[in-house]
Amino acid sequence: MTAKPQQFASDNYAGICPEAWAATAAANDGSARAYGDDIWTQRAADAFRTLFETKCEVFFAFNGTAANSLALAALCQSYHSVICSSSAHVETDECGAPEFFSNGSKLLVAQTPDGKLNPEAIRALACGRSDIHFPKPRVVTITQPTETGQVYSIDEIRAISATCRELGLKLHMDGARFAHACARLGCTPADITWRAGVDVLCFGGTKNGMAAGEAIIFFDTSLATDFDYRCKQAGQLASKMRFLSAPWIGLLESGAWLGNARHANDCAARLATTIAGLPGVRLAFPVEANSVFLSAPEAVLDGLRERGWLFYTFIGGSARFMFAWDSDIAVVRALGQDIVELCAPAAGMPPAPQSSYG
Ligand SMILES: *Cc1c(COP(=O)(O)O)cnc(C)c1O
Repeated sequence: MTAKPQQFASDNYAGICPEAWAATAAANDGSARAYGDDIWTQRAADAFRTLFETKCEVFFAFNGTAANSLALAALCQSYHSVICSSSAHVETDECGAPEFFSNGSKLLVAQTPDGKLNPEAIRALACGRSDIHFPKPRVVTITQPTETGQVYSIDEIRAISATCRELGLKLHMDGARFAHACARLGCTPADITWRAGVDVLCFGGTKNGMAAGEAIIFFDTSLATDFDYRCKQAGQLASKMRFLSAPWIGLLESGAWLGNARHANDCAARLATTIAGLPGVRLAFPVEANSVFLSAPEAVLDGLRERGWLFYTFIGGSARFMFAWDSDIAVVRALGQDIVELCAPAAGMPPAPQSSYG
């Protein structure tokens, strides 16, 4: 087994992109006011207002778990509930942080085949109970793109927000890979957020080329009241804030936020094309962003492991490959080639039955 020059087990295996790095270095210029009262933080927040073409309220947190949990907590009282997909990161990967920071707001999960919410699923959960004994539905959270790489169209988001409005629910978007959704849809960031009825967005920087950091963007600015206190109390107010905010200047002002995402999506599309139609393997989910979920016989997955590839199989047993701003097309090709070889009958692989999960 030889070590690979690059791995695709996660998009947070990648380092810091040059634009974010340069902007951090530029901010590393002598002293500056602390706790966000500095010119870099101001400029980063303004860059978001320019990007989103609106006067939004912008806050910076260290990671996505904090951003999501604090945003949801800001929208809820402890007796409220949050409607999400059963595969939502807030449900499966945040260790109860949304419930913790909201002092008990319950997550109501919808089982949907593709991990996407839709008006019917929301309505079923929101209207299932209306008595005093059940936590009152208050927020819908959607992940764009979903944890398995599906992208909500503008129309799908509009339909969800119309349902939210009708039922008196706020709409939150977990955009850990928001840039990848914009790259896929070719729309403006405004089109899939406030123009489509999203109230609050968590915009991921980490998976877009930064060392750390997510932005919490309130399009309904009335919801941002005292959010700064909430961030501070949760340990999310950086004293040297400029180093959390400046990388955003690099990403947003250069356009790297979109270029990075396009490249990552392109790598996923390339791998998907390479393995299309191979015997015994299939894509467990449509490839619409920067991930490929490969359903393959255990022998093929073992073969990939033996050849040194790292990947997770925590979602339905399929092998997940995630691409980032720095994914090397030659290494993507090498991975594809290994899958092709491992699937070839000539390599001694009997055709295995298709797995049925996914
Ligand atoms: C990565 C990710 C997050 C943020 O995770 P942290 O590890 O807390 O930064 C949030 N939502 C989704 C869908 C993610 O993939």
